[in-house]
Amino acid sequence: MIVLNLTCSGGHHFEGWFASADAFTEQSEAALVVCPTCNNAEIMRLPVAPMVRRRAAEITPSSSSRDSAERALVQQTLVQQTLARLAADADDVGDRFAEEARRIHYHEIPERSIRGQATLHETHALLEEGIVVLPLPAKKEDLN
Ligand SMILES: [Zn+2]
Repeated sequence: MIVLNLTCSGGHHFEGWFASADAFTEQSEAALVVCPTCNNAEIMRLPVAPMVRRRAAEITPSSSSRDSAERALVQQTLVQQTLARLAADADDVGDRFAEEARRIHYHEIPERSIRGQATLHETHALLEEGIVVLPLPAKKEDLN
């Protein structure tokens, strides 16, 4: 999953979560992506902000209280689907998760999606350093 910084033709900046850059292109062409401020469907991408580098306060999917409950539900479903896909696409680094997340955060290695196991202590340490980690439900095969 990627977080895209978006801007409408009216110059409002906001962000959206998408499974991929292609998913954004498809949805914006279908006018499914609209500016939360002015409802403009003419949306352009700003440079990608990799999720691992976002702080927790910034990754809340943008939404507007004017949005209908239906759209909120669609967004929620989208986030759940993209989270599941993120987990499937991510590189499984096992118990080296905290170490790898830190190396990506500090640009020691190229950015990529990773998943793995981290202790509660490691997770807290990562969050304190501003490294966003998302708890994902363990898949059955991972429990073996
Ligand atoms: Zn706008």
